[in-house]
Amino acid sequence: MSRQSKRLCTDVTSSYAVPNLSEGEDNLSPPFSHKAVNSQSRDQRHPRFYFGDGDVTFKVSPYLFKVHTAKLIATSEFFQDMFMVASPDESEQTEDGHIITLDGMETVWNMSVWLAKIYDDNEYFQILLDVSAIQVAGALYHLGNKYSHPPYCAQAKSLLFKIFPTELPDWTEGLSRISLSTAFEAIKVAKLDCPIILPAAYYVASAAPLEDIIKGTIDSSSPGRCVKLSPDDQITVLRGKHRRGQIRREHTFSLFQDVLRRGEYWPNGKCPNRRACSGWLRTVYLRLDECGFFGNDHDCFESFTKKAWDNIVKGLCDRCCNQAKDDIWIGLQEACNAIPDMFGLHSWLDVRQDQREIDDFHTV
Ligand SMILES: [Zn+2]
Repeated sequence: MSRQSKRLCTDVTSSYAVPNLSEGEDNLSPPFSHKAVNSQSRDQRHPRFYFGDGDVTFKVSPYLFKVHTAKLIATSEFFQDMFMVASPDESEQTEDGHIITLDGMETVWNMSVWLAKIYDDNEYFQILLDVSAIQVAGALYHLGNKYSHPPYCAQAKSLLFKIFPTELPDWTEGLSRISLSTAFEAIKVAKLDCPIILPAAYYVASAAPLEDIIKGTIDSSSPGRCVKLSPDDQITVLRGKHRRGQIRREHTFSLFQDVLRRGEYWPNGKCPNRRACSGWLRTVYLRLDECGFFGNDHDCFESFTKKAWDNIVKGLCDRCCNQAKDDIWIGLQEACNAIPDMFGLHSWLDVRQDQREIDDFHTV
């Protein structure tokens, strides 16, 4: 792993025309209010959604979004209601038009994703996805839930499913493609709206160096941006990290525990030379343990290199070689099954049940 964590980890706003990435979430929004703002404020015009011929301006600091009432009303019941109750007398006309402040109600991310959807601006939507598919998914869930628009929730879920494996056969291969910052960022979204990806997100996060878990990790696709875990998640990830070695020893490579326990009675099958085969595996186990093979720094699913495996099977008869191969394969499945429990999520059954309940809520 590259030592990105050595770089200075501070919140820096990218100058690129995308939402301010260091902003906080605002799930506890105050009641919606219309109020006029001073046109001399330092707000910037949003680089994508500030149309000269727009007739309504939304302010979500630090951006002004000047858009078309007709477009909003045509695509969203929320805006139909909003413009019906809006009273122009209470607002001042400014050079930006009639300004409606959504600060504390929506974030720049939510607004950018929303307008990209309303204006059917696939190009900008893709730019947002490239910066952070997780932020886009979070915004879609937020908008879908808040304004009762199930298709947004469905799209958010499919975005997350493309990144995080949810079926055991895809598990080991799928995880290797996920960056630490993606995993860190996904945990918050997963806890609220997509618990099925939580084991994978926590698991990838648990590979982070201690320093990153505590202080945050640099976003690989947007250098200068630091993604941090909440204090609760830091504890959860640290606990999981501490158990990686244990999972390797007790599940992935339970083969060796089995040999230690049963001695010459391993394996069950007909081995022509049990004493030699089981003795050899005990020796291998001790050597691996000395080398830190069962340490927390290793992936629970990282198996032997070809060279190591060739060395191991040298001391085994054909039957025991096959038995060992089968046992490790079973061990990998058991390790997968043990992942939710590493992070206090009990079992895959529980996680799937949580997901079903949330899906039912999203489709109402
Ligand atoms: Zn044998």
